[in-house]
Amino acid sequence: MESVEILKEIAQKSGKSEEEVKELIDAKIKKFSGLLTEQGASFMVQKELGLKQETGIESKIGELSDGMKGIDIGGEIKAIFPVKEFEKNGKSGKLKSFILNDDTGEVRITLWNDQVDLYDLSVGSKIKILNAIVSAYNEKKQVGLGFNGSIEITHKKEIEFKELNNIKGGMNNVNIVGRLLRKYPCKEFDSNDKKGKLCNFQFGDGTALLRATAWNEKADEVEKYNEGEIVEIKNGYTKDGMFGVELHLGYSAELTKSEKDIPSVVNILKDSVNEKKINQLVENENVIIDGKVKNLMDGKLFYPVCEKCGKKVSIENSGVVCENCGEVKGEKRAIMGIVVEDDTGEVRANLFGDSAIKAIGMDKTNFEKELDEKSSEKLVEEIREKISGNELKLFGYLKVNNYSGENEFSVKDVI
Ligand SMILES: [Zn+2]
Repeated sequence: MESVEILKEIAQKSGKSEEEVKELIDAKIKKFSGLLTEQGASFMVQKELGLKQETGIESKIGELSDGMKGIDIGGEIKAIFPVKEFEKNGKSGKLKSFILNDDTGEVRITLWNDQVDLYDLSVGSKIKILNAIVSAYNEKKQVGLGFNGSIEITHKKEIEFKELNNIKGGMNNVNIVGRLLRKYPCKEFDSNDKKGKLCNFQFGDGTALLRATAWNEKADEVEKYNEGEIVEIKNGYTKDGMFGVELHLGYSAELTKSEKDIPSVVNILKDSVNEKKINQLVENENVIIDGKVKNLMDGKLFYPVCEKCGKKVSIENSGVVCENCGEVKGEKRAIMGIVVEDDTGEVRANLFGDSAIKAIGMDKTNFEKELDEKSSEKLVEEIREKISGNELKLFGYLKVNNYSGENEFSVKDVI
């Protein structure tokens, strides 16, 4: 606001003349021997006249100093860090911090407990922090909300998802959605006496395939997802690696399950997949095999999963318990082991969920009804009879079973 306008506003609200207000402001400037700007002086006058209690002076980030209170800070969000939960004096709390920058610098803002869920913040959004307090931690300035402090989102940046064929090396704040195609075994390592962990995985959305690496706590998160699941990744960064562009998930990355419509695994991979004979199968290579069902293995035809996240659940006295979601409603996920043969040999193939139901030639509702009505033994017998000798085209890859050490074909889709 122009100083003339402020003068008018103060005069109007206080009932004093503009001249009187001007005198008060000049007196302040004089009193502080020129150290106070006109804006600062008018702010003090407004406070003394009881006009200003809730909004502060707007400060640039480069001008912040330890102990400042009741100021407003405007800027753009540069990075957001994941919520951290902690325990202090037997009480649990949480915090979320983010980096705000303007043309004079950047500073870390921390929100505590109830404040954490109040604001829908996204990288690139312009915000104003009202009634902020500045403190110093390890000589680094940081900002929090003061009493009655709040955040005003002045310009919301909608999160922009990129297609994988537009991803190049050296990008920050990369947001993508696609399928987690393949998880490779995770590795633990030591660096500077600190234990680290990484998990590599392959990701695709139908426009391109991407090699990705999740680090430390993000590696643990990736491990929780099943291959084939649709996942939204926010705030990743890319590098040019030996085998092309690599996506990295560092501490500020976010992973969430997505409902977005993404091509099936087999459609994403079809250009890079060949048909192979059973005796040509190589571990980990995505292929299509074309064979006849020789046998259906005995066993239960389903296992209980969480209705919310699809992870395996345990049935306890208290009910159905999911490691991710707590107490949930369970549902039955189909599982089936078959032996497939072609003119070169045979292989054990494992089918899950929709792939299993498709191979049986039933729909989900019918299959669930059968499970409810019949014993496992009876149903296995019936299905064995129904599918033996059937021709199946299976998409998947050969994998060593962790328990038996045998090679098994892990089916990702029935074509
Ligand atoms: Zn769950």
